[in-house]
Amino acid sequence: MSHPLTGIKTVKELEIEKKVVFLRLDLNVPLTKDGVISDENRILAALPTIEHCLSRGAKLVIASHLGRPKKGNPTDRVQLSLEPVCARLTELTGKEVLLIDDPEDDSVKGMLKNLREDQMICLENLRFTEKEEANSTEFAQVLASYTDVYVNDAFGASHRAHASIAALPNLIAQKGVGFLIEKELNVLYKVQEQPKAPFVMILGGSKVSDKIPLIDRLIDKVDSFLIGGAMAYTFLKAKGIPVGKSLVEESQISFARHFFERMEARGKKILLPLDHLTAPNLEAGATLTQTSSDAIRDDSLGVDIGPLSVTHFSRVIAEAGTIFWNGPMGIFEREGCSKGTFGIARAVAESKGFSVIGGGDSASAVEMSGYKDKVDHISTGGGASLEYLQGTKLPGLAAVRAPKRSEVL
Ligand code: ADP
Ligand code: MG
Repeated sequence: MSHPLTGIKTVKELEIEKKVVFLRLDLNVPLTKDGVISDENRILAALPTIEHCLSRGAKLVIASHLGRPKKGNPTDRVQLSLEPVCARLTELTGKEVLLIDDPEDDSVKGMLKNLREDQMICLENLRFTEKEEANSTEFAQVLASYTDVYVNDAFGASHRAHASIAALPNLIAQKGVGFLIEKELNVLYKVQEQPKAPFVMILGGSKVSDKIPLIDRLIDKVDSFLIGGAMAYTFLKAKGIPVGKSLVEESQISFARHFFERMEARGKKILLPLDHLTAPNLEAGATLTQTSSDAIRDDSLGVDIGPLSVTHFSRVIAEAGTIFWNGPMGIFEREGCSKGTFGIARAVAESKGFSVIGGGDSASAVEMSGYKDKVDHISTGGGASLEYLQGTKLPGLAAVRAPKRSEVL
Protein backbone atom coordinates (compact mmCIF):
# COMPACT_ATOMS: atom_id res chain seq x y z
CA MET A 1 0.00 0.00 0.00
CA SER A 2 1.19 3.50 -0.75
CA HIS A 3 2.06 5.82 2.09
CA PRO A 4 -1.13 7.39 3.51
CA LEU A 5 0.34 10.88 3.12
CA THR A 6 0.84 10.46 -0.63
CA GLY A 7 -0.87 13.37 -2.37
CA ILE A 8 -1.39 15.25 0.89
CA LYS A 9 0.39 18.47 1.83
CA THR A 10 1.63 18.99 5.36
CA VAL A 11 1.17 22.33 7.07
CA LYS A 12 4.83 23.20 6.43
CA GLU A 13 4.21 23.15 2.68
CA LEU A 14 1.21 25.47 2.81
CA GLU A 15 1.31 29.25 2.30
CA ILE A 16 -0.34 30.51 5.45
CA GLU A 17 1.11 33.94 6.21
CA LYS A 18 -1.71 36.44 6.85
CA LYS A 19 -4.18 33.76 5.73
CA VAL A 20 -7.15 32.55 7.73
CA VAL A 21 -6.26 28.99 8.65
CA PHE A 22 -9.14 26.77 9.75
CA LEU A 23 -7.41 24.26 12.01
CA ARG A 24 -9.53 21.23 12.86
CA LEU A 25 -8.17 19.72 16.07
CA ASP A 26 -9.18 16.90 18.35
CA LEU A 27 -9.51 18.77 21.64
CA ASN A 28 -11.99 16.20 22.93
CA VAL A 29 -10.48 16.01 26.42
CA PRO A 30 -12.10 14.41 29.46
CA LEU A 31 -13.63 17.01 31.79
CA THR A 32 -14.80 16.58 35.37
CA LYS A 33 -18.29 17.80 36.36
CA ASP A 34 -16.71 21.07 37.48
CA GLY A 35 -15.13 21.63 34.09
CA VAL A 36 -11.59 20.64 35.09
CA ILE A 37 -9.52 18.97 32.35
CA SER A 38 -8.49 15.58 33.75
CA ASP A 39 -6.17 14.60 30.89
CA GLU A 40 -4.69 17.30 28.66
CA ASN A 41 -2.73 15.04 26.31
CA ARG A 42 -4.84 15.97 23.31
CA ILE A 43 -4.26 19.68 23.91
CA LEU A 44 -0.52 19.15 24.22
CA ALA A 45 -0.51 17.00 21.07
CA ALA A 46 -2.12 19.88 19.13
CA LEU A 47 0.42 22.50 20.20
CA PRO A 48 3.14 21.98 17.54
CA THR A 49 0.72 22.76 14.70
CA ILE A 50 -0.84 25.70 16.56
CA GLU A 51 2.59 27.16 17.31
CA HIS A 52 3.73 26.66 13.72
CA CYS A 53 0.70 28.50 12.32
CA LEU A 54 1.09 31.35 14.79
CA SER A 55 4.81 31.71 14.14
CA ARG A 56 4.09 31.95 10.41
CA GLY A 57 1.65 34.81 10.96
CA ALA A 58 -1.57 32.92 10.19
CA LYS A 59 -4.95 34.02 11.51
CA LEU A 60 -6.05 30.95 13.35
CA VAL A 61 -9.57 29.58 13.62
CA ILE A 62 -9.42 26.52 15.82
CA ALA A 63 -12.31 24.06 15.79
CA SER A 64 -13.06 20.81 17.61
CA HIS A 65 -15.84 18.66 18.98
CA LEU A 66 -16.11 17.75 22.65
CA GLY A 67 -18.04 14.75 23.93
CA ARG A 68 -21.47 13.87 22.66
CA PRO A 69 -23.79 16.79 23.44
CA LYS A 70 -27.52 16.18 23.15
CA LYS A 71 -28.69 18.80 20.70
CA GLY A 72 -30.52 21.69 22.30
CA ASN A 73 -29.75 20.48 25.84
CA PRO A 74 -28.82 23.60 27.83
CA THR A 75 -26.84 21.66 30.48
CA ASP A 76 -24.71 19.97 27.81
CA ARG A 77 -24.10 23.37 26.21
CA VAL A 78 -22.49 24.47 29.44
CA GLN A 79 -20.77 21.22 30.46
CA LEU A 80 -19.39 20.43 27.02
CA SER A 81 -18.27 23.95 26.20
CA LEU A 82 -14.71 24.37 24.92
CA GLU A 83 -14.23 27.23 27.39
CA PRO A 84 -11.87 25.34 29.77
CA VAL A 85 -9.86 24.19 26.74
CA CYS A 86 -9.54 27.79 25.51
CA ALA A 87 -8.38 28.89 28.96
CA ARG A 88 -5.68 26.20 28.92
CA LEU A 89 -4.66 27.14 25.38
CA THR A 90 -4.20 30.73 26.51
CA GLU A 91 -1.92 29.55 29.33
CA LEU A 92 0.08 27.34 27.00
CA THR A 93 0.46 29.72 24.05
CA GLY A 94 0.32 33.13 25.75
CA LYS A 95 -2.30 34.19 23.18
CA GLU A 96 -5.81 35.35 23.87
CA VAL A 97 -8.32 32.78 22.61
CA LEU A 98 -11.65 34.28 21.54
CA LEU A 99 -14.40 31.69 21.86
CA ILE A 100 -17.12 32.07 19.22
CA ASP A 101 -20.46 30.79 20.39
CA ASP A 102 -21.99 30.38 16.94
CA PRO A 103 -19.63 29.49 14.06
CA GLU A 104 -22.36 30.48 11.59
CA ASP A 105 -22.67 34.02 12.90
CA ASP A 106 -21.81 36.86 10.53
CA SER A 107 -19.62 38.47 13.18
CA VAL A 108 -16.83 35.91 12.63
CA LYS A 109 -15.64 37.63 9.45
CA GLY A 110 -15.43 41.00 11.18
CA MET A 111 -13.54 39.51 14.09
CA LEU A 112 -11.06 37.89 11.74
CA LYS A 113 -10.47 41.19 9.97
CA ASN A 114 -9.53 42.85 13.25
CA LEU A 115 -7.75 39.87 14.82
CA ARG A 116 -4.53 40.92 16.54
CA GLU A 117 -1.30 38.92 16.40
CA ASP A 118 -1.67 37.98 20.05
CA GLN A 119 -5.13 36.51 19.48
CA MET A 120 -6.73 33.49 17.88
CA ILE A 121 -10.28 32.32 17.44
CA CYS A 122 -11.79 29.09 18.68
CA LEU A 123 -15.20 27.98 17.50
CA GLU A 124 -17.47 26.53 20.18
CA ASN A 125 -17.98 22.72 20.26
CA LEU A 126 -18.86 21.84 16.66
CA ARG A 127 -21.29 19.16 17.79
CA PHE A 128 -23.61 21.77 19.31
CA THR A 129 -25.16 21.83 15.85
CA GLU A 130 -26.47 18.63 14.30
CA LYS A 131 -25.08 19.85 10.97
CA GLU A 132 -21.56 18.77 12.01
CA GLU A 133 -22.28 15.06 12.34
CA ALA A 134 -24.68 15.21 9.36
CA ASN A 135 -21.71 16.30 7.21
CA SER A 136 -23.83 19.24 6.07
CA THR A 137 -22.59 21.01 2.93
CA GLU A 138 -24.57 24.08 3.92
CA PHE A 139 -22.71 24.29 7.26
CA ALA A 140 -19.40 23.62 5.52
CA GLN A 141 -20.10 26.48 3.08
CA VAL A 142 -20.49 28.91 5.97
CA LEU A 143 -17.19 27.74 7.49
CA ALA A 144 -15.54 27.90 4.03
CA SER A 145 -16.75 31.49 3.58
CA TYR A 146 -14.13 32.68 6.08
CA THR A 147 -11.43 30.03 5.46
CA ASP A 148 -8.41 30.53 3.18
CA VAL A 149 -6.46 27.42 4.15
CA TYR A 150 -7.79 24.25 5.78
CA VAL A 151 -5.59 22.11 8.04
CA ASN A 152 -6.73 18.86 9.63
CA ASP A 153 -4.78 17.79 12.69
CA ALA A 154 -7.64 15.95 14.36
CA PHE A 155 -6.36 12.43 13.92
CA GLY A 156 -8.81 11.04 16.48
CA ALA A 157 -11.76 12.33 14.43
CA SER A 158 -10.49 11.63 10.92
CA HIS A 159 -12.44 8.37 10.60
CA ARG A 160 -15.68 10.35 10.83
CA ALA A 161 -17.33 11.86 7.74
CA HIS A 162 -18.42 15.00 9.57
CA ALA A 163 -18.76 18.53 8.17
CA SER A 164 -15.50 19.93 9.56
CA ILE A 165 -13.59 16.76 8.57
CA ALA A 166 -15.04 15.93 5.15
CA ALA A 167 -17.50 18.47 3.65
CA LEU A 168 -15.40 21.55 4.52
CA PRO A 169 -12.03 20.49 3.02
CA ASN A 170 -13.88 19.40 -0.10
CA LEU A 171 -14.73 23.09 -0.62
CA ILE A 172 -11.20 24.40 -0.07
CA ALA A 173 -8.31 24.43 -2.55
CA GLN A 174 -5.40 25.05 -0.14
CA LYS A 175 -5.39 22.29 2.43
CA GLY A 176 -3.35 19.72 4.25
CA VAL A 177 -2.62 18.01 7.55
CA GLY A 178 -0.81 19.06 10.70
CA PHE A 179 2.18 17.59 12.52
CA LEU A 180 0.16 15.22 14.72
CA ILE A 181 -1.52 13.47 11.80
CA GLU A 182 1.81 13.34 9.98
CA LYS A 183 3.44 11.63 12.97
CA GLU A 184 0.55 9.23 13.61
CA LEU A 185 0.45 8.13 9.98
CA ASN A 186 4.21 7.66 9.76
CA VAL A 187 4.13 5.41 12.82
CA LEU A 188 1.09 3.39 11.75
CA TYR A 189 2.45 2.98 8.24
CA LYS A 190 5.68 1.62 9.66
CA VAL A 191 3.74 -0.89 11.79
CA GLN A 192 1.53 -1.93 8.93
CA GLU A 193 3.97 -2.04 6.03
CA GLN A 194 7.47 -2.37 7.43
CA PRO A 195 7.17 -4.08 10.81
CA LYS A 196 10.52 -5.29 12.10
CA ALA A 197 10.19 -9.02 12.88
CA PRO A 198 9.09 -10.59 15.08
CA PHE A 199 5.83 -8.62 14.95
CA VAL A 200 3.85 -9.24 18.14
CA MET A 201 0.25 -8.16 18.33
CA ILE A 202 -1.32 -7.98 21.78
CA LEU A 203 -5.10 -7.99 21.74
CA GLY A 204 -7.50 -7.67 24.63
CA GLY A 205 -10.53 -5.63 25.56
CA SER A 206 -14.05 -6.75 25.47
CA LYS A 207 -15.23 -7.58 21.95
CA VAL A 208 -13.80 -10.13 19.52
CA SER A 209 -16.07 -8.95 16.71
CA ASP A 210 -14.55 -5.43 16.92
CA LYS A 211 -11.07 -6.80 16.28
CA ILE A 212 -11.79 -9.26 13.47
CA PRO A 213 -11.01 -6.80 10.64
CA LEU A 214 -7.68 -6.01 12.31
CA ILE A 215 -6.77 -9.70 12.69
CA ASP A 216 -7.79 -10.45 9.11
CA ARG A 217 -5.81 -7.57 7.73
CA LEU A 218 -2.58 -8.24 9.63
CA ILE A 219 -2.58 -12.04 9.94
CA ASP A 220 0.15 -12.47 7.32
CA LYS A 221 2.44 -9.91 8.92
CA VAL A 222 2.04 -10.82 12.58
CA ASP A 223 4.33 -13.52 14.02
CA SER A 224 2.57 -13.93 17.37
CA PHE A 225 -0.84 -12.91 18.63
CA LEU A 226 -1.09 -12.62 22.42
CA ILE A 227 -4.73 -12.63 23.46
CA GLY A 228 -5.97 -11.50 26.86
CA GLY A 229 -8.90 -9.48 28.21
CA ALA A 230 -12.45 -10.67 27.76
CA MET A 231 -11.54 -11.61 24.18
CA ALA A 232 -9.48 -14.53 25.47
CA TYR A 233 -12.49 -16.48 26.78
CA THR A 234 -14.02 -16.85 23.33
CA PHE A 235 -10.69 -18.26 22.11
CA LEU A 236 -10.26 -20.54 25.15
CA LYS A 237 -13.79 -21.84 24.73
CA ALA A 238 -13.09 -22.54 21.06
CA LYS A 239 -10.25 -24.79 22.27
CA GLY A 240 -12.58 -26.64 24.63
CA ILE A 241 -11.14 -25.06 27.81
CA PRO A 242 -13.79 -24.34 30.50
CA VAL A 243 -14.38 -20.60 30.93
CA GLY A 244 -17.24 -20.66 33.47
CA LYS A 245 -19.42 -17.56 33.29
CA SER A 246 -16.81 -15.40 31.54
CA LEU A 247 -17.84 -13.12 28.68
CA VAL A 248 -17.95 -15.22 25.52
CA GLU A 249 -19.11 -14.20 22.06
CA GLU A 250 -20.71 -17.46 20.95
CA SER A 251 -21.11 -16.14 17.40
CA GLN A 252 -17.32 -15.73 17.13
CA ILE A 253 -16.29 -19.22 18.26
CA SER A 254 -16.13 -20.52 14.71
CA PHE A 255 -14.01 -17.49 13.71
CA ALA A 256 -11.68 -18.32 16.61
CA ARG A 257 -11.32 -21.99 15.49
CA HIS A 258 -10.61 -20.91 11.96
CA PHE A 259 -8.09 -18.35 13.23
CA PHE A 260 -6.13 -21.10 15.08
CA GLU A 261 -6.03 -23.15 11.87
CA ARG A 262 -4.91 -20.20 9.77
CA MET A 263 -2.08 -19.33 12.17
CA GLU A 264 -1.01 -22.97 12.46
CA ALA A 265 -0.89 -23.26 8.67
CA ARG A 266 1.48 -20.28 8.67
CA GLY A 267 3.64 -21.80 11.40
CA LYS A 268 2.85 -18.87 13.71
CA LYS A 269 1.76 -18.57 17.29
CA ILE A 270 -1.33 -17.62 19.26
CA LEU A 271 -0.73 -17.32 22.98
CA LEU A 272 -3.69 -17.52 25.34
CA PRO A 273 -3.72 -16.95 29.12
CA LEU A 274 -2.39 -19.82 31.28
CA ASP A 275 -4.13 -18.58 34.44
CA HIS A 276 -6.71 -16.02 35.49
CA LEU A 277 -8.00 -13.79 38.19
CA THR A 278 -11.67 -14.66 38.64
CA ALA A 279 -14.72 -13.33 40.46
CA PRO A 280 -18.21 -14.78 41.11
CA ASN A 281 -19.78 -11.86 39.18
CA LEU A 282 -18.95 -8.53 37.54
CA GLU A 283 -20.02 -6.45 40.53
CA ALA A 284 -17.51 -4.10 42.12
CA GLY A 285 -16.13 -5.51 45.36
CA ALA A 286 -16.69 -9.16 44.35
CA THR A 287 -14.19 -11.60 45.93
CA LEU A 288 -11.22 -12.20 43.62
CA THR A 289 -9.64 -15.65 43.26
CA GLN A 290 -6.46 -16.66 41.45
CA THR A 291 -6.74 -19.84 39.32
CA SER A 292 -3.80 -22.23 39.01
CA SER A 293 -4.56 -23.28 35.42
CA ASP A 294 -6.24 -21.96 32.29
CA ALA A 295 -9.59 -23.50 33.29
CA ILE A 296 -12.23 -21.37 35.03
CA ARG A 297 -14.81 -22.88 37.42
CA ASP A 298 -18.47 -22.94 36.42
CA ASP A 299 -19.44 -20.42 39.12
CA SER A 300 -16.74 -17.85 38.21
CA LEU A 301 -15.73 -15.48 35.46
CA GLY A 302 -12.39 -14.08 34.37
CA VAL A 303 -11.58 -10.45 35.20
CA ASP A 304 -7.84 -10.34 34.49
CA ILE A 305 -4.98 -12.55 33.28
CA GLY A 306 -2.88 -14.14 36.02
CA PRO A 307 0.87 -13.94 36.80
CA LEU A 308 1.81 -17.06 34.79
CA SER A 309 0.18 -15.50 31.76
CA VAL A 310 2.06 -12.24 32.30
CA THR A 311 5.37 -14.17 32.34
CA HIS A 312 4.32 -16.28 29.34
CA PHE A 313 3.38 -13.19 27.27
CA SER A 314 6.34 -11.13 28.52
CA ARG A 315 8.87 -13.65 27.13
CA VAL A 316 7.49 -13.16 23.64
CA ILE A 317 7.21 -9.38 24.09
CA ALA A 318 10.87 -9.20 25.17
CA GLU A 319 12.00 -10.70 21.84
CA ALA A 320 9.70 -8.58 19.65
CA GLY A 321 10.92 -6.28 16.89
CA THR A 322 7.55 -4.56 16.64
CA ILE A 323 4.67 -4.52 19.14
CA PHE A 324 1.15 -3.31 18.53
CA TRP A 325 -1.17 -3.42 21.52
CA ASN A 326 -4.89 -2.86 21.52
CA GLY A 327 -7.20 -3.79 24.38
CA PRO A 328 -6.48 -4.18 28.11
CA MET A 329 -5.81 -7.63 29.61
CA GLY A 330 -8.55 -7.27 32.24
CA ILE A 331 -10.98 -4.87 33.86
CA PHE A 332 -8.02 -2.64 34.70
CA GLU A 333 -10.25 0.24 35.81
CA ARG A 334 -11.23 -1.84 38.82
CA GLU A 335 -9.31 -2.13 42.07
CA GLY A 336 -7.33 -5.38 42.14
CA CYS A 337 -7.91 -6.21 38.46
CA SER A 338 -5.12 -4.21 36.84
CA LYS A 339 -2.05 -6.40 37.55
CA GLY A 340 -2.27 -8.28 34.25
CA THR A 341 -2.58 -5.14 32.14
CA PHE A 342 0.11 -3.26 34.07
CA GLY A 343 2.41 -6.29 33.91
CA ILE A 344 2.07 -6.35 30.14
CA ALA A 345 2.65 -2.56 30.04
CA ARG A 346 5.89 -3.16 31.90
CA ALA A 347 6.96 -5.91 29.49
CA VAL A 348 6.21 -3.63 26.52
CA ALA A 349 8.13 -0.79 28.15
CA GLU A 350 11.15 -3.03 28.79
CA SER A 351 11.18 -4.61 25.32
CA LYS A 352 13.58 -3.22 22.73
CA GLY A 353 10.89 -3.66 20.09
CA PHE A 354 9.21 -0.63 18.53
CA SER A 355 5.98 -0.33 20.52
CA VAL A 356 2.70 1.29 19.54
CA ILE A 357 -0.46 1.45 21.64
CA GLY A 358 -3.80 2.01 19.91
CA GLY A 359 -7.24 2.31 21.50
CA GLY A 360 -8.69 4.74 24.01
CA ASP A 361 -8.87 2.38 26.99
CA SER A 362 -5.48 0.87 26.22
CA ALA A 363 -3.94 4.34 26.14
CA SER A 364 -5.39 5.22 29.54
CA ALA A 365 -4.32 1.83 30.93
CA VAL A 366 -0.72 2.46 29.85
CA GLU A 367 -0.89 5.94 31.32
CA MET A 368 -2.19 4.55 34.65
CA SER A 369 0.53 1.90 34.66
CA GLY A 370 3.24 4.56 34.84
CA TYR A 371 5.07 3.17 31.78
CA LYS A 372 3.70 5.71 29.32
CA ASP A 373 7.06 7.36 28.67
CA LYS A 374 8.75 4.05 27.90
CA VAL A 375 6.60 3.06 24.93
CA ASP A 376 7.42 4.45 21.52
CA HIS A 377 4.03 5.76 20.49
CA ILE A 378 0.59 6.07 22.04
CA SER A 379 -1.89 6.91 19.35
CA THR A 380 -4.16 9.84 20.21
CA GLY A 381 -6.79 8.46 17.87
CA GLY A 382 -8.17 5.22 19.28
CA GLY A 383 -10.83 4.40 16.69
CA ALA A 384 -9.02 6.17 13.86
CA SER A 385 -5.78 4.24 14.37
CA LEU A 386 -7.59 0.88 14.37
CA GLU A 387 -9.61 1.81 11.29
CA TYR A 388 -6.46 2.87 9.48
CA LEU A 389 -4.64 -0.36 10.37
CA GLN A 390 -7.54 -2.51 9.27
CA GLY A 391 -7.46 -0.83 5.87
CA THR A 392 -10.46 1.49 6.10
CA LYS A 393 -10.06 4.72 4.11
CA LEU A 394 -10.26 7.65 6.53
CA PRO A 395 -12.69 10.32 5.19
CA GLY A 396 -10.58 13.07 6.75
CA LEU A 397 -7.56 12.04 4.68
CA ALA A 398 -9.48 11.52 1.45
CA ALA A 399 -10.90 15.06 1.71
CA VAL A 400 -7.52 16.77 2.10
CA ARG A 401 -6.11 14.74 -0.78
CA ALA A 402 -8.97 15.46 -3.17
CA PRO A 403 -9.03 18.60 -5.36
CA LYS A 404 -11.51 21.33 -4.46
CA ARG A 405 -15.01 20.44 -5.59
CA SER A 406 -15.82 23.52 -7.63
CA GLU A 407 -19.24 22.27 -8.73
CA VAL A 408 -20.74 22.49 -5.25
CA LEU A 409 -19.91 26.15 -4.80
P1 ADP B 1 -9.64 0.05 23.54
O1 ADP B 1 -10.51 1.22 23.97
O2 ADP B 1 -8.23 0.21 23.98
O3 ADP B 1 -9.80 -0.25 22.07
P2 ADP B 1 -11.62 -1.89 24.29
O4 ADP B 1 -12.64 -0.78 24.30
O5 ADP B 1 -11.71 -2.89 23.22
O6 ADP B 1 -10.16 -1.25 24.33
O7 ADP B 1 -11.69 -2.69 25.68
C1 ADP B 1 -11.60 -2.07 26.93
C2 ADP B 1 -12.58 -2.64 27.90
O8 ADP B 1 -12.46 -4.04 28.02
C3 ADP B 1 -12.33 -2.07 29.29
O9 ADP B 1 -13.46 -1.32 29.70
C4 ADP B 1 -12.13 -3.31 30.16
O10 ADP B 1 -12.74 -3.20 31.43
C5 ADP B 1 -12.81 -4.38 29.33
N1 ADP B 1 -12.32 -5.71 29.71
C6 ADP B 1 -11.08 -6.17 29.65
N2 ADP B 1 -11.00 -7.44 30.15
C7 ADP B 1 -12.25 -7.76 30.54
C8 ADP B 1 -12.82 -8.91 31.15
N3 ADP B 1 -12.09 -9.98 31.46
N4 ADP B 1 -14.16 -8.90 31.40
C9 ADP B 1 -14.90 -7.81 31.11
N5 ADP B 1 -14.41 -6.69 30.53
C10 ADP B 1 -13.10 -6.67 30.26
MG1 MG C 1 -12.62 1.35 24.29
